[in-house]
Amino acid sequence: MMRDHELLIGGERVPGDEGYFDVTDPASGSAFARCPAGSPAQLDRAVDAARSAFGEWQGASHAQRCEALTRVADDIEREADELARLIVREQGKPLTLAHAEIAGGVAWTRYAASQEIPVETIEQTPAQQIELHHRPVGVVASITPWNWPFMIAVWHIMPALRAGNCVVSKPSSLTPLSTIRLVEIIARHVPRGVINVVTGERGLGSAITGHPGIDKIVFTGSTETGQSVMRASAGNLKRLTLELGGNDAAIVLPDTPIAAVAEAIFQAAFLNMGQTCSALKRLYVHESQYRELGEALADIARRQVVGAGLEEGVTFGPVQNADQLALVSELVDDARAQGAEVLCGGERLARDGFFYPPTIVMGVSDGQRLVDEEQFGPVLPLVAYTDVEDALRRANASSMGLGGSVWGADEVHARAIANRLESGVAWVNCHARIQPDTPFGGCKMSGFGVEFGMQGLLEFTTPQLRFTCPLPSPAAS
Ligand code: NAD
Repeated sequence: MMRDHELLIGGERVPGDEGYFDVTDPASGSAFARCPAGSPAQLDRAVDAARSAFGEWQGASHAQRCEALTRVADDIEREADELARLIVREQGKPLTLAHAEIAGGVAWTRYAASQEIPVETIEQTPAQQIELHHRPVGVVASITPWNWPFMIAVWHIMPALRAGNCVVSKPSSLTPLSTIRLVEIIARHVPRGVINVVTGERGLGSAITGHPGIDKIVFTGSTETGQSVMRASAGNLKRLTLELGGNDAAIVLPDTPIAAVAEAIFQAAFLNMGQTCSALKRLYVHESQYRELGEALADIARRQVVGAGLEEGVTFGPVQNADQLALVSELVDDARAQGAEVLCGGERLARDGFFYPPTIVMGVSDGQRLVDEEQFGPVLPLVAYTDVEDALRRANASSMGLGGSVWGADEVHARAIANRLESGVAWVNCHARIQPDTPFGGCKMSGFGVEFGMQGLLEFTTPQLRFTCPLPSPAAS
């Protein structure tokens, strides 16, 4: 067992009022650490601490905040090895990918440190001066999922702090530990109460959404939970950024060189064992290349070394939790029962832990669960099409609208099709690409608001228009 972790409230490390809960290692299926179970009263204290710290932090200069975040990035870098190992233990991904997650966290933190919020002059005349400023919203709650626990916490917390807000973080109870460590690192460099973390198994999420002391929620998770967050946030009209589920389609145009694209398509679909919001989740392939691409993907899948993330040479880890594993198994079994062809994988591995090998499924179509639902795991369904317009119509028929991609040798044609995808991001000849300076977010049931870039930063602010007029001249007597 690892050492016990603690909550961080108002700069103090404290145990949870409600004891501890177990954190499971997905590679063994057994508990490897304990996490504090915070109470609603502790959430209240964290919100109060954040509120008290807000006055000072919102008054900090650009240079002070930039300096604090730069030091945080330096510390994350220095402690990368320990953090990466913790991510592997709680999340399951291979160690190299956990290192990539940390490196992403550092890059996004340094980017946030460098950002300056502009003041826009709308009018500057003798009659009046009008400026558009952006003020921090106040107390921000960050609610994060279990797939990229460290990096998504960074995505939420760093721009929130950079914009002058104070934060209460609530990680997923499946992967809370790397976020606690992240918060401890941040707390070394900011005044007490600016950053807080409260963990718990049940009820804390809804206590946050209904809390009158919280001004904004940045939420990443499933669409269903996002809907509850939105409903429960109405009490004080919390500002919301909702990054929700996706069911990204990719369309491979006829005459695409299969050997050139197969590896990139595989990686986009199976990134983090497929547990990535913007992973490629439905692959539409022209009938003339359907078999060839299916076989090429299955070859790559068979070459993966499946195992525990800390084992040498492993390229493919377990699914993060038992429920997700059950969903993936259920969707594949459902497709198989309807006559689908499972080219490789398709069965849970007979060993401890939540292992499911990369699975390629052909002979499926829209209307089947594996195609219509977000699998969020290591299985990719291939759907054959004959007409590109029909493939586009089917890609857009989903209620989700996170990302989508079009692949083809004729870039102009591919772009013309990609421009018509109903999604927050449209990629051509790539998928799931993101970077700190480029806004990212979904439409339709995948949520609203964006993260990253200047637009992402401004989501943690509220606009204030400032008018200055000359003193009225004394009235003529
Ligand atoms: P989830 O919705 O089950 O949980 C997300 C977080 O919400 C967790 O911290 C959970 O404890 C908390 N929560 C649960 N009930 C709550 C409630 N009633 N009120 C407030 N908070 C509550 O999601 P998950 O299973 O952890 O993550 C997987 C989902 O997240 C997938 O659908 C995936 O597509 C999505 N996701 C989206 C993005 C994106 O950027 N769009 C990124 C990563 C993951």
